[in-house]
Amino acid sequence: MMSEESIKEYLRERALKATPIRVGLLSLLSERESAIPYSEIQENLKSFDRVTLYRTLNALIDGGIVHKASTSGDETYYALCSQNCSKHCHKHEHIHFKCTACHEVSCMHIEQAIKISIPNFQIEEVSVEVKGVCDKCCK
Ligand SMILES: [Zn+2]
Ligand SMILES: [Zn+2]
Ligand SMILES: [Zn+2]
Repeated sequence: MMSEESIKEYLRERALKATPIRVGLLSLLSERESAIPYSEIQENLKSFDRVTLYRTLNALIDGGIVHKASTSGDETYYALCSQNCSKHCHKHEHIHFKCTACHEVSCMHIEQAIKISIPNFQIEEVSVEVKGVCDKCCK
């Protein structure tokens, strides 16, 4: 979990203004190890209107701070990026795991990066979602 001070610092480092909604959103995302569904973000930041929240998410995605962890089903999940990501440039070599029992979505680091190539096509992003039962539900 990040303190409010370190979140402000983090935003400043990326030339983003530390507005209350950005700080609130980032502290919410840093509270948990798993990704958070949009409806829950909305619930937690009720005091801000939907348009502001939507714009904030996009600004943070653009700033290399937040990414979409899963868009399957009817929910979009969001997660914090690692320090590897920078403005306009996300560097993710991880996959997303969705637990079919508790419905948690987590960023999972894998030992080998997934490399896919299609002749004459330029691939910008590979998104892999793995479904199964997580270690907490499997006990
Ligand atoms: Zn990222
Ligand atoms: Zn689970
Ligand atoms: Zn992720």
